[in-house]
Amino acid sequence: MITIKKTRTSRALKDAVEQLSGVDLSICFQCKKCSSGCPVAKLAKSRPSEIMRQLHLGAGDELLASDLVWMCASCETCSARCPMGIDVAAVMDALRRLALERGAPKPEGDVPLFNRAFLKTVETFGRSYEIGMIAAYKLGTGKLMNDTEKFPAMLKKGKIALLPPRGGDRKTVKRIFRKVKASKGT
Ligand code: SF4
Ligand code: SF4
Repeated sequence: MITIKKTRTSRALKDAVEQLSGVDLSICFQCKKCSSGCPVAKLAKSRPSEIMRQLHLGAGDELLASDLVWMCASCETCSARCPMGIDVAAVMDALRRLALERGAPKPEGDVPLFNRAFLKTVETFGRSYEIGMIAAYKLGTGKLMNDTEKFPAMLKKGKIALLPPRGGDRKTVKRIFRKVKASKGT
């Protein structure tokens, strides 16, 4: 069941998401194709179509604490499946950004920390660097030895690289990060 709490910021949240994502929330007709294709919907408490509905009905900033906002893998399956051409993944991006800007309560777990660790390696190396990301994440959680049993096998099979990635256009990636930070005033 969807519960909507209307607050003075309700309209502001819907407007802010529409502005950031470029999505017109009113054209969603709740076919739920986005939810049926989402790889994390079964693990989260809410589904993409529910988030869309809640936003459209005027949910307030409590929506920013939804676990799906942080569990979303930005795979864009929802956007590809939507018969209305709605960029649902962009809506999730907008919600994540607003959650950070408005200091929304973080969901249980360390997903925001994982997100920061991932983005930091992309900013530094121009591409994802798994070992750097894992090290930053584990230092942040303080659980250094958790889930490390598969690490030697992954190294051996070449599933994970010891050295940072080469190539890629680091300068351009750094410029993009600088621009985003400047636009957010961070
Ligand atoms: S697939 Fe598109 S129209 Fe259908 S529920 Fe999801 S966002 Fe709405
Ligand atoms: S982009 Fe996020 S919400 Fe959309 S299908 Fe992928 S994980 Fe689910």
